[in-house]
Amino acid sequence: MVRLDGTVALVTGASSGIGEATAEQLAAQGAGVALVARRADRLETLAGRIRDAGGTALVIEADVTDQEQAIAAVERTVAELGRLDTLVNNAGVMLLGPVTDAPTEEWDRMVRVNLLGLLYCAHAALPHLVRAASDSPRRVSDMVNVSSVAGRVARSGSGVYNATKFGVGAFSEALRQEVTQKHVRISLVEPGATDTELREHNRPEVMEAIMARFKGVERLQAEDIADTVLYIVTRPRHVAINELLVRPTEQA
Ligand code: NDP
Repeated sequence: MVRLDGTVALVTGASSGIGEATAEQLAAQGAGVALVARRADRLETLAGRIRDAGGTALVIEADVTDQEQAIAAVERTVAELGRLDTLVNNAGVMLLGPVTDAPTEEWDRMVRVNLLGLLYCAHAALPHLVRAASDSPRRVSDMVNVSSVAGRVARSGSGVYNATKFGVGAFSEALRQEVTQKHVRISLVEPGATDTELREHNRPEVMEAIMARFKGVERLQAEDIADTVLYIVTRPRHVAINELLVRPTEQA
């Protein structure tokens, strides 16, 4: 495993779940981390833990669906932490339910966060990632895009979430081809059911259906996906992990 000392990572959606665990593990491996989300109090608590453990953390309150805020988050990271080697595009929302009679404002939220937010952050970060790949001791940089099993398998009841996550997969593969020879590695992580706050934003009847579907299944922990991200970004320069699908063992 390559250490991350001297590198800088930006993690979107670092205020809870997978993003929080990932930021903590990247920091423990030596990376300075920029913590991006809307809930600044949660980010401050995480930053305190990282600093207490001897790490470097920068709190950036931002809504990634606003392109100006996404750009400002990236630029502030580079201004205050000096560079950007790793972008973890993790912020996301999952609002499930049938298409018929769906409240379409839920679709808008998913498309704006899961797709547009990710695209804005990717676009703002790319020049810095290209620079980091040529001038850092590691001579490689990483963008890890968090998709889902729902980005590989469509199911009745999650059509629009599927559409956003399939989109993340398509974008990641196209971008991979565009920048891989510059040693910017683009990776896709596709978690299965993970024990986070994600499902709690659903309407009560949808929550019930989700709980029923995963009854008795031991879910992944956020740390399991953080491990996956850490594995990807600590490979040697000539190894690119393009895609990892990680399910709980009991998830059919
Ligand atoms: P959480 O709900 O715990 O975390 C979601 C994060 O996204 C929060 O930190 C939230 O922060 C952030 N976020 C949401 N909207 C915005 C926004 N507009 N701007 C900035 N940040 C935002 O869920 P998870 O940790 O589970 O989700 C992380 C990723 O993992 C998502 O992309 C999700 O789709 C994916 N995933 C999760 C699975 C699971 O079972 N949990 C399975 C497969 C994929 P804040 O509200 O403070 O802005």
